[in-house]
Amino acid sequence: MAKTPITVAYGDGIGPEIMKAALRILLEAGAEIEIETIEVGEQVYLRGETSGIDKKSWETLLHNRVLYKAPITTPQGGGYKSLNVTIRKTLGLFANVRPCASYYPAIDTKHPLMKVVIVRENEEDLYAGIEHRQTHEVYQTLKLMSSPGSEKIIRYAFEYARANNHRKVTAFTKDNIMKMTDGMFHRVFDEIAADYPDIQTEHMIIDIGSARLADTPELFDVIVLPNLYGDILSDVAAQLTGSVGLGSSANIGAEYAMFEAIHGSAPDIAGRGIANPSGLLLAGVQMLVHLGQAEAAERVHNAWKRTIEDGIHTPDIYREGRSTQRVGTMEFADAVIARLGMLPERLTPVNYAKDEPIRMEPPTAVKVKAKKELYGVDVFLDWDEANRDPNALGQKILSEVITPELTMTMITNRGLKVFPDVDVNSFKTDHWRCRFVSQTPIHHNVIVNLLGRFAAAGLDFIKTEHLYYFDGQPGFSRGQGE
Ligand code: NAD
Repeated sequence: MAKTPITVAYGDGIGPEIMKAALRILLEAGAEIEIETIEVGEQVYLRGETSGIDKKSWETLLHNRVLYKAPITTPQGGGYKSLNVTIRKTLGLFANVRPCASYYPAIDTKHPLMKVVIVRENEEDLYAGIEHRQTHEVYQTLKLMSSPGSEKIIRYAFEYARANNHRKVTAFTKDNIMKMTDGMFHRVFDEIAADYPDIQTEHMIIDIGSARLADTPELFDVIVLPNLYGDILSDVAAQLTGSVGLGSSANIGAEYAMFEAIHGSAPDIAGRGIANPSGLLLAGVQMLVHLGQAEAAERVHNAWKRTIEDGIHTPDIYREGRSTQRVGTMEFADAVIARLGMLPERLTPVNYAKDEPIRMEPPTAVKVKAKKELYGVDVFLDWDEANRDPNALGQKILSEVITPELTMTMITNRGLKVFPDVDVNSFKTDHWRCRFVSQTPIHHNVIVNLLGRFAAAGLDFIKTEHLYYFDGQPGFSRGQGE
């Protein structure tokens, strides 16, 4: 087999020790990889490269397409950008795949039967970093989710499930509250699920879903989630297996991929030769599967399982009574290498699909464009007068601002309708949303004219959101209490 070139970053802290150990095992197991090393992380940051990676390393990365990365240290203080976020976004790594399996009885856990794979959307949602302070009291982050982005991650989860013999895919959202963003994710999930009749599907609201995951993880198999929920729950799930130190993750895109442990650079134990290389090694197993080298991946994973089953443990997982030998990083690697070709006896051996790795084409844009019509606008105000009395604001707008083309249907504060009609004396901030609608489609000029009148009335509008109908369906939510 021709060797596949990969880029390796040794990282900081314990990074170099665990990378050396992991690569030794992978190569001894017959991984057909050709290694090209780049420097990323602390020293690069301190040389003034705010992204933690220099131009030459980028070129290597782009050329080889696969990055195997040890943890890095982000220096304290402002100005340094997260290397992981930069790599994920630049390389279009839309899927974060984190297997979370218990290794009981080799490793203690409250959930001996747990075997869950978290598939997290990696590029969208609240991670766009579009944030604004709008008033003295109110701050905003935009949660942006696209239907092609959702389709890509959900289809990936189903393809992953099918290729790896999983029986069920569960989606978690909060679409009872976020009907537009999470509602769309849920709808796309249902549509794509119909293409996979061989796989069971279910949807849960994230709160009860998380509670069940923490209590009875054996109910779940593959879980697909939007970015923020996935970020949080993938750490929870890894911890539930018994040790976050064994966790690995794959960041997958259409053309590029990155594999790493989920823990950090552990500066407190760096240089002592006692770090556990397992998380990074298991990321290496994911990498070999991705490269189509399933046999080598299986050999490594089974030998590793046999090693921990034999009680050969680094100090972080060593337990009197359960462990038999306390070893350092390199001795652990030696023990795994000595077991290459063996299967675990009590733990279930792994069996990776021999198929080609899953490749996802970038999604096509919107298939059929809906008819989009403008019917109104929400105008947001920074207003802190008249003891924040909504009636005072409402009357001012009705007398000084309103135009004949539009009707003001409500004013809300923190999403709750406070005008017209009775206001139950709720707490109010200095941030108000005023909704204007028309019975017939309008042109943008109507909104521009309205905003001109707001300005003339001395009212500080801080943003607008247009109210569109798509094929006759409202593309906006109602106000609470509307
Ligand atoms: P950490 O994961 O590095 O360490 C937390 C604790 O777990 C420490 O006590 C450490 O000794 C222990 N630990 C971690 N990995 C271990 C291993 N393989 N074997 C044995 N013990 C292990 O988290 P932290 O201390 O919060 O962060 C340290 C640095 O790592 C920070 O600069 C942080 O920004 C960075 N970090 C990097 C990544 C990454 O590169 N992907 C991820 C998380 C944190």
